Amino acid sequence: MYFYAHAGLGWILAEAGRGDSRFRRAVFLAAIAPDLDALPSVLGWSITLNHHHVWTHNLLFSLVVSALAMWYCPGQRLRALVFTQIAFYSHFFGDYFFTTWPLSYLFPFSRCEFISDSAFHLWHPVNQWLGLGFTLGALVLCVVFRRTPLEVLSPRADTAWIKVVTKLFRARGVRRMNP
Ligand SMILES: [Zn+2]
Repeated sequence: MYFYAHAGLGWILAEAGRGDSRFRRAVFLAAIAPDLDALPSVLGWSITLNHHHVWTHNLLFSLVVSALAMWYCPGQRLRALVFTQIAFYSHFFGDYFFTTWPLSYLFPFSRCEFISDSAFHLWHPVNQWLGLGFTLGALVLCVVFRRTPLEVLSPRADTAWIKVVTKLFRARGVRRMNP
């Protein structure tokens, strides 16, 4: 799946867990962190071919992410474990079924590669629809709970951003009522 689809689904899962801001941060990052191994692509396509879906799309990485989340969320360890695993596997199976790029799930113990026989190509329209659906779902939750994934970087910046957006929408509403 596209990165923005993983991110949208990650935010939906983060909100579904009903935890605090640390919990949401851990779950959201667990959903997008597997694509860290796409970063070397800035160095060239051949490097991408060797490393993407290898370093951080595997069982060991999922356990490291959940262990870090349990340490980071001391009051909600079990929930952090469950939801970061769900978030990681939402990413993993998103790639397993909606890309044709094999995943080295057992890395570094084995370079055995996994991919669904009926996987969709990344540029199949179903990926655009999934990305759109998850992004819209995440946006609805942003409106309902009045917070956004910006909270992952800085809760204070997110609160300020929500205030600005709310003011803008209120100002537009007032203008529409008094044309
Ligand atoms: Zn991925």
